[in-house]
Amino acid sequence: MERSNYRGRFAPSPTGPLHFGSLAAAVGSYLDAKHHQGTWFIRMEDLDTPRCVPGAAEDILRTLEAFGLHSDVPVLYQSQRTAAYEEALQQLRNADAAYPCCCTRREIADSALNGIEGPVYPGTCRNGIPAGRTGRAWRTRTDNATIEFDDVLQGRISQHLERDIGDFVVKRADGLFAYQLAVAVDDAFQHITHIVRGADLLYSTPRQIHLQHLLGLSTPTYMHLPVALNAQGEKLSKQTLAPAIGRDDVVTTLIKVLKFLQQQPPEELRGATIEQILLWGAANWRPEKLAYCRQLPSDH
Ligand code: GLU
Repeated sequence: MERSNYRGRFAPSPTGPLHFGSLAAAVGSYLDAKHHQGTWFIRMEDLDTPRCVPGAAEDILRTLEAFGLHSDVPVLYQSQRTAAYEEALQQLRNADAAYPCCCTRREIADSALNGIEGPVYPGTCRNGIPAGRTGRAWRTRTDNATIEFDDVLQGRISQHLERDIGDFVVKRADGLFAYQLAVAVDDAFQHITHIVRGADLLYSTPRQIHLQHLLGLSTPTYMHLPVALNAQGEKLSKQTLAPAIGRDDVVTTLIKVLKFLQQQPPEELRGATIEQILLWGAANWRPEKLAYCRQLPSDH
């Protein structure tokens, strides 16, 4: 079958094995891509080395393989992309859109107002670092504008970055590039046209759009899927001790994922192969069935 221009991706962080929530994001992005005859990429977001767990990247890839979720192109590792992030930072600096910041977490917590994701940076180093201090991190400037985008499932999202988030870190004090910068650079580098991921990242999207504007990159289409919760109503994650997805009884798990994604797989699929289930899923993919699950990060 001829491929369309659609390019989607799943971008796990190897901080532990896949759990039900991350598998659902993988399946959702895969099915959306295949439904549109698109190309599907796996990108390993192994930038945050202190949080990466040895062996987790290989383990995630083996689990994805077991579920028939094969990347159409070789897996891109963010740990290999530092030069591209450095170049993007340079571009921001040249445009005076990034500045060094000497503030510690404690200093910020002491003087900041709370935004939607914790303290809003109070702007201490915006116009220069106070005498006697040295820059630790790099921040990008936000401005007095509202960023809006239409999420395929969540509808119109508006965020006033300066007030709700504040100038945010693009290169951390430990020298590592921040997720927001890396993801904006790599989505553009891989010419991603459609991003399908968990709604826990919904409120990160305006930061990524802001960086796309500053770096002259185009903005893909976004679809944020409902996040899987445990019995306590917490997002499944390493922190909430979500169990790892096993590689046996893949059919049962895959059907559970389709149900979680509101895709109503027919009973007969229980006897089908993984490939057949994915083909059914792609042919019958109706993300609009998820629309009523509208779920914002603040809901959990
Ligand atoms: N690596 C991020 C995570 O696992 C996801 C990035 C994305 O899909 O934009 O939470």
